[in-house]
Amino acid sequence: MPLIIKQFQFFKSFKENCYLAYDSEDKSCTVVDPGEESEKLLNEITDNKLKLTHILITHAHLDHVFGYYNLKQAFPEAKIMLHENEIPVWNANTKCSTKMILKLIFGVKIRNDYLNIQKYLIKDKQVISVGKYNLEVLFTPGHTHGSVCFLERSEKIAFTGDTIFTDMLGNTKYPNAKTQGNQEQLNQSVQLLKKEIAGYIIYPGHRNYGDSTHVLQSKTE
Ligand SMILES: [Zn+2]
Repeated sequence: MPLIIKQFQFFKSFKENCYLAYDSEDKSCTVVDPGEESEKLLNEITDNKLKLTHILITHAHLDHVFGYYNLKQAFPEAKIMLHENEIPVWNANTKCSTKMILKLIFGVKIRNDYLNIQKYLIKDKQVISVGKYNLEVLFTPGHTHGSVCFLERSEKIAFTGDTIFTDMLGNTKYPNAKTQGNQEQLNQSVQLLKKEIAGYIIYPGHRNYGDSTHVLQSKTE
């Protein structure tokens, strides 16, 4: 059986893609980028009797992390994992102005323990197991300074966050100095991805999933 991947689309108009990936034999599972607190996602985990071991964060923009809370409530042992360069981005989500916008426009509230929740730092090339599958961290800064992709090499799949989508590259614009990225870094990361994930299926942070070939060839020449 291949690694099973289910897609959930979250966070209001941001339409952020959250993924549940699991080994159907071993029942280990991981969630990539939980954008929203979601009963649907929790039910999928419990209905399939899965064990949530890791919550993987490609980058800490709020639309990718906001659902951490109810996952941690339901599965306290699940480790939130992100690159250390994303800590300032994670923390920036608690800025007063951000909180105000979230409350007024989206009707969501940052929890009080948001800053203190335990996080585990991941490094380039680190391997995280999901049952018999291995997700390898590939450090791909640019969209943010600590953006990463997660690659399952035997399955030829990659969770690419907002670094690349199936039809376009990510951007580096964000209205806050701490959370915005760097175009030169992004270009280098895309060149790296061209070597590392040619022929892979990519599961990006927004839009559809699909073959990496089109974006890596046509958008990078
Ligand atoms: Zn983003």
